[in-house]
Amino acid sequence: MRFESVLDLARRGELYPGLILHGGSDETRRQRALELTRTLLCAEPPAGRPCGVCNHCRRLVWPGSDSDLFHPDFHVVERDLKTSTSVDAVKRFLQAAQISPFEARGQVFVVASAESLSGEAANALLKVLEEPHTSAPRHFLLLAPSQFDLLPTLRSRSLAVFLGSSEAVDEAAVADVAADFARCVAAYGDSGAGVYLLTAAGVLAAAADFKDPRSGRPWADAARAVLASLEEPATPTAARRRLLALAEALLQGVDFRLRGIPAERVLEGLVSRHLAGRGWEGPSPPA
Ligand SMILES: [Zn+2]
Repeated sequence: MRFESVLDLARRGELYPGLILHGGSDETRRQRALELTRTLLCAEPPAGRPCGVCNHCRRLVWPGSDSDLFHPDFHVVERDLKTSTSVDAVKRFLQAAQISPFEARGQVFVVASAESLSGEAANALLKVLEEPHTSAPRHFLLLAPSQFDLLPTLRSRSLAVFLGSSEAVDEAAVADVAADFARCVAAYGDSGAGVYLLTAAGVLAAAADFKDPRSGRPWADAARAVLASLEEPATPTAARRRLLALAEALLQGVDFRLRGIPAERVLEGLVSRHLAGRGWEGPSPPA
């Protein structure tokens, strides 16, 4: 969906509670999040939103920008740890979602680096996203370089809005990895020979830079390649659910690295846990 259409939905009060703003630069995502927040909370009649000058619009600024302006119904959580946004930070941030808006007709919650949400933090957010609001509309804006950096459970409950390509992601490289990976998965499906799963894991290991054990980035890249492989003609349709589960598991790969397990071993383990075994039409094994 285009950003202009999203603003229209916001003016009409028909916007989904959960929105992923992805693509573009950090700055682009923040600017769009502010514009959308002003549209949602502006005091003018719908057609004139955002006016930019009303008591709400004027005070909707990014926290920490050098001004004392502040709006009590606009909440932002930033990454608080070196590589992640912690569950404690997210829980504090979500406390305001339990009360009614102070001044505006609704509330807006922004997760500034949604790709850095820990698994536990994402689940805390998911719980609130799933609660129907009782008094006034609440909107959750999740900002991330790519929607595929987010857990599938969060993605499935949010509308993703692409803000243009960011330089960080090399789509052509991802497509090449996805095609190689799909060929290995197809070969495994045909032959059942485990060596193809090792090769598939090797393809993912070579696709990103896993040197920094704390970095979630290579895991997001590997997950993105697995998801892109679903578009490849070679991929067996029956493996689809298993591949989606694998992509989700890869996003948590950084946890294994932090326990000192080499990236290659983690990749081999996850690929074989999710893809090994014949009969792909059956239910996925529990993760
Ligand atoms: Zn306004």
